[in-house]
This record gives sequence, structure tokens and C-alpha cells, in this order.
Amino acid sequence: MSLLVLTHRDCLAHCPPRGHPERPERLEAAWRGLDQISDLRVEDARSVTRAELDRAHGPNYLDKIEGLDDAGQRIALDPDTHFGPGTLRAARLAAGAACQGVDAVLGDTADQVFAVVRPPGHHAEGAKAMGFCIFSNLAVAALHAIHQHGLKRVAVCDFDVHHGNGSEAILAGNDNALFISSHQSPLYPGTGDPAIPHADNIINATLTPASGSNEFRELWVEHLLPRIDLYKPELILVSAGFDAHNLDPLAQLKLKDEDYYWIGQELLRLATNHASGRLVASLEGGYDLKALENSVLAFAEALI
Ligand SMILES: [Zn+2]
Repeated sequence: MSLLVLTHRDCLAHCPPRGHPERPERLEAAWRGLDQISDLRVEDARSVTRAELDRAHGPNYLDKIEGLDDAGQRIALDPDTHFGPGTLRAARLAAGAACQGVDAVLGDTADQVFAVVRPPGHHAEGAKAMGFCIFSNLAVAALHAIHQHGLKRVAVCDFDVHHGNGSEAILAGNDNALFISSHQSPLYPGTGDPAIPHADNIINATLTPASGSNEFRELWVEHLLPRIDLYKPELILVSAGFDAHNLDPLAQLKLKDEDYYWIGQELLRLATNHASGRLVASLEGGYDLKALENSVLAFAEALI
């Protein structure tokens, strides 16, 4: 088994206003975690292409984003999501890394890939930026796997503390994709209620505030991992957000570093059983720098 990390210094160039939780220092914290692993294979991420983005996002939205970049605009796309010089470059690398990861595991140049990038992606919908996210990185990658590589069963698994509303909206009803999410409720963005059916290929499960390791693991063991097992995915994509950590300032779950090792091992086991080990993870949330450093390390170690 070999793990390939894809990242890029230009992902530091996306700079929301001072005090914003989704800040460049997050990427450096993730790198500090990975630096503790010897002999790790690390390569530069590539940019996503317009054709790859077109599968997930509408042309008007993409034209608008490109126009803002051309004009050197600094603007809030929504109350949480800021755009400035360097944002488009970073967002293209974040989405590109996920597609590059798909190409690597399907081309047998890596078994597992961890895209350590920012901005995150799972809140961005087809026609709008949202919740710190510009492009829906893993939805773009799932559609790349389906349309470029001809896969029939791609599982997107999201353990970020927030519901991946953007991934869900883009993949809902897609016969070749399954979206599975655990998230705290109530919490931003307020979607992902399992009692409100969305589409047959969408599985949501919620945790109440103050839930910890036991509740998280029980939810995945009893409700989510069996659904992935039944689906027999040809590829597993992972929205790897680390903001369910006990130290995270944006939510109230109480996960520990070792829970990220555990979920990494469980998802890798399913990838090994069904998908020749093919797994591509992409960094989503995680806003306490020390917790992020340690959680990224624990999750990456599980994939090795
Ligand atoms: Zn999050």
C-alpha cells in the first residue's frame, strides 16, 4: 500500500479577512502533522480544468468567479465565504488535487491519496459558494471518476462535523454515486436531517451536541459503514474534516485524535475489500490548529 499526499503552497494564497477561522495557518498545521511521518510521498497538486468544474457547477457561477479573479476583486460571496487575489488559484488546486487523486488511484500510481488543500469544498453547491467553500472538490472528483474513468459506484463519505450540503446537492439522484454523511445537529448549515428524504443515494446521520467517540463510532458501525459495504464501491472518496474534535471552536462534538485513526482504518478496510484499496481523501474543516495537526497525522497514519 502506498499513500500519496497532494498539496500546494499556493493554497496559502487564499486569505480571508483577519480572524476568519478558515485561514492559511490551517494548511501549515496539517503539514506539521504530516512532517512527523517519515518517507511520506508528497507531490504538488494540479489545477482543475474548466471541463472538470463544468460537470458540477453551472456556467454562470464559474464565469462569475473567473470574472472576479480577472478584475482582482476582493468580495464576500456569502457572509462566511471570501474571495480575493489568490482565491481562484487555491480553489482550482483544491478541486484539481481531488481529480488528480482519482487519476492516481485508478492509474495505479498510488493506492491511497490525501489531498491536503484549502479552501474546503463540501458546502459549495452547483451555483453558489457557501460556508468557506468555492468549488465542491469531492463532487467534482466523483463526477470525474464517473465520466472520465467510467466508474459505476463511487462512495463519497463525509465525517466533517458539518453536513456536506454541496456534495449532497450535486450528487443527489446520481445513479453512480452514494453520499454518506455524519454531522452534528443542530449546526450550520441546518441541512442533512435523516428524517427528510432527499434521494435514494443520500444517507445522512446526525449526532447531538456533546456526543463523543462512542456515539460517533456507534453511528458509523451500525448505520453508515454497513451501507458502504452493501454498495460495494469501486472507489471511496472521503471528505476529511476534523472539526468534530473536542478542541474545535466551531462545533460541540468531542472526538479525539485516535477517532480519526479509527475512521481512516475503517474506510480503508472497505476500500480494500471492494475497491482494490482505492481511496482519495480531501481536507475539509478543522479549525483548532493543534487538533488539526494531530488529527491529520492520525488519519494519514491510518491510510499507510
Ligand atoms: Zn466543517
